[in-house]
Amino acid sequence: MMTEPQTLEVADLTKVYRTPGGENRVLDGLELTARPGESVAILGPSGSGKSTLLNIIGSLDEPTSGTVRVGDVIVGELEGAALSEYRACTVGFIFQDHHLLPQLTALENVLLPTLAARQTDGAEQRARELLERVGVIERAGAFPARLSGGERQRVAAARALINGARVLLCDEPTGNLDRETGNTLVRMLADLTKDGVTVLMVTHNVEQAGMLDRRFLLKNGRLAPWEAAAVEEGAG
Ligand code: ADP
Ligand code: MG
Repeated sequence: MMTEPQTLEVADLTKVYRTPGGENRVLDGLELTARPGESVAILGPSGSGKSTLLNIIGSLDEPTSGTVRVGDVIVGELEGAALSEYRACTVGFIFQDHHLLPQLTALENVLLPTLAARQTDGAEQRARELLERVGVIERAGAFPARLSGGERQRVAAARALINGARVLLCDEPTGNLDRETGNTLVRMLADLTKDGVTVLMVTHNVEQAGMLDRRFLLKNGRLAPWEAAAVEEGAG
């Protein structure tokens, strides 16, 4: 398990999808640095490449060129066991849909990634601490169907962190939640940075983006500071 703080550095990242209709240059020289314990919001219209960016950082997808670095690890150079460990332990994902397994309790869902990563020693204790940390310890024995939408996302956050993730990748985590529940979830995610976790959150919600340390607009394949971009477009 990684325990040292790790800076996330994305350099000159390009992603080109080749389709029958031609080239789609989704990311185009994108740069991003996030320090340990920093929270960053990424806004942008549908199709601007937000999920592509998170997926590349999480190594679920490969860039056409450019590098993702977490601490002194260059993700594109990982293979075999080191790559598996990066996916299972260094990064964690939360999606719009919780993806909890319905036949497992909240606690068992959180424990699941410890099996794949062979980190089962003390795992239940860690899982309970995390459920406490995200505010749903009293729901540990409940099945997902009996949890509220906000509770499910909290359990998903605990699952994403159980193997000691340093970077939490959140792809529209409040997309299925009402405003108040969503805001509470984002406050909780922002609070996780106190443990040294770097939080990267994609959202359409400017209010929720405002709860994080920094905001960017993904446009034309690059990140622009949100405040400057909003002024430029006359939207601020
Ligand atoms: P966002 O998350 O901002 O809505 P995505 O990252 O999902 O955007 O997608 C960005 C663009 O890349 C879209 O135009 C989408 O159609 C395209 N795209 C995503 N995945 C693929 C793929 N596997 N093959 C071809 N095009 C893709
Ligand atoms: Mg998306």
